[in-house]
Amino acid sequence: MGEPSDKRPVIDEDECTGCGLCVDECPNDVLELNDDDVAFVARPDDCDGCGTCSEECPSEAISME
Ligand code: SF4
Ligand code: SF4
Repeated sequence: MGEPSDKRPVIDEDECTGCGLCVDECPNDVLELNDDDVAFVARPDDCDGCGTCSEECPSEAISME
């Protein structure tokens, strides 16, 4: 698991396959899948910038910016 940081996940909707791994792996339950099965930041205030979602995404759809 990554260290907290000031960065936040930005999800490339075109690259997301809707696998749900980031939703499962986020330690703070920040991410969800929308009705189109694309991940989005549902609870931004709970994100600590750890980067785990970005590291775990098999499609490299999440960048930390
Ligand atoms: S892990 Fe990547 S491909 Fe899978 S739902 Fe999350 S952003 Fe989409
Ligand atoms: S950076 Fe960490 S806390 Fe924020 S959404 Fe990704 S896994 Fe969750």
